[in-house]
Amino acid sequence: MKIAVFPGSFDPITSGHVDIVKRALPLFDKIIVAIGSNSQKSYLFDLDQRMDWLGEVFKGMERVEIGKFEGLTAHYCSEIGANYLLRGLRNASDFDYEKTISQLNSIVGDDLDTIFLISRPEFSHISSTIVREIIKGHGDARPFLPKEVKI
Ligand code: ADP
Repeated sequence: MKIAVFPGSFDPITSGHVDIVKRALPLFDKIIVAIGSNSQKSYLFDLDQRMDWLGEVFKGMERVEIGKFEGLTAHYCSEIGANYLLRGLRNASDFDYEKTISQLNSIVGDDLDTIFLISRPEFSHISSTIVREIIKGHGDARPFLPKEVKI
């Protein structure tokens, strides 16, 4: 079975994330969208809220599961038997960052490869960071969010 983990903070999940999962579905038997928690990082939305949104957004998609983990992504992948990581690339700075992480994961992880999908142009300006700024500034973030995420 080809199982991929799509790890992230999903603080909150955006339309860009959803597009990556939908486009990756033909490549894998199962995709686990998993929220990784890092004790060093603070989040705008708590873990339960972010998990609820993932559950709502992917409810109708049979081969998509949701999950959560602490610690290393590579360890989570070996625990659940996933050999692939899925990540999205929006621009060159994503690439620089992701390249290093992917190389580290291939060493730390056991037979773990990262598959990258380049974001569609209509989603490449969307990031959770921008969405959080809009929310903090009391703007309307709906154009960047799946309809299930009601903020
Ligand atoms: P992290 O905290 O690990 O960066 P994110 O939730 O911000 O987690 O992102 C998870 C993954 O989704 C990353 O690979 C990121 O590049 C990708 N991603 C985020 N926004 C988009 C987008 N608009 N289009 C394509 N990929 C995206």
